[in-house]
Amino acid sequence: MINVAIDGPAGAGKSTIAKTVAKTLGFIYVDTGALYRTIALSAVRNGVIDSREDIVKMLDKIDVKLGFDETGAQCVYLNGEDVSSLIRTPEISMGASKVSSIMEVRDYLLELQRSIARENNVIMDGRDIATVVLPNAKPKIFLFATPECRAERRYKELVEKGENVTYEDVLADVNQRDYQDSHREIAPLKPSEDSVMVDTSGNTLEESIEILTNIIKENMQ
Ligand code: C5P
Repeated sequence: MINVAIDGPAGAGKSTIAKTVAKTLGFIYVDTGALYRTIALSAVRNGVIDSREDIVKMLDKIDVKLGFDETGAQCVYLNGEDVSSLIRTPEISMGASKVSSIMEVRDYLLELQRSIARENNVIMDGRDIATVVLPNAKPKIFLFATPECRAERRYKELVEKGENVTYEDVLADVNQRDYQDSHREIAPLKPSEDSVMVDTSGNTLEESIEILTNIIKENMQ
């Protein structure tokens, strides 16, 4: 199976770019952030988002699954309920960053991610795909962009969806999540030694898609 890893901070364009490239190549696109978001949603619903201990206890009682529809789009299920759109709010973004620093949560999601990659050609996007989840992925790509540029993109996305947010709030969230994601002890956000580094700051979406498609075609096993 061909396994491509794409890691990088929130808003670097990972999901939009990876989704398009996966479609072109006929691969499944796996957005692993959706899994952490689903755990966060469950924790918020159960009123335990601020308690590490209760989040860990909750893991035994929930069922998280990924599915793919006929167009290849990913859906995520919490106890059988499709929560794919419910997990895309600023509250859940921040909650996901919180739960993702808990080792038991990462362990809980590890095998689910690996099993999908064992059975499918995948482009898997996350924070620790190259370093932890799929260390044998090829190629490994680390996508990044300036915090301001990422906040601008996120802000536009959220406004288009009708969320009531300001650019300043989104930038503050991006900076806080970057800090949390790269300073946590377990599986911090960082490129692996053999990652290809791609800065998307000055690129249009089309340019980034072309750059990634070429890197993947040149390097895949
Ligand atoms: O990619 P997305 O913004 O949806 O991810 C939400 C949060 O989930 C991230 O801020 C990060 O804390 C966490 N995450 C992670 N490891 C991954 C994917 C996401 O820790 N592989």
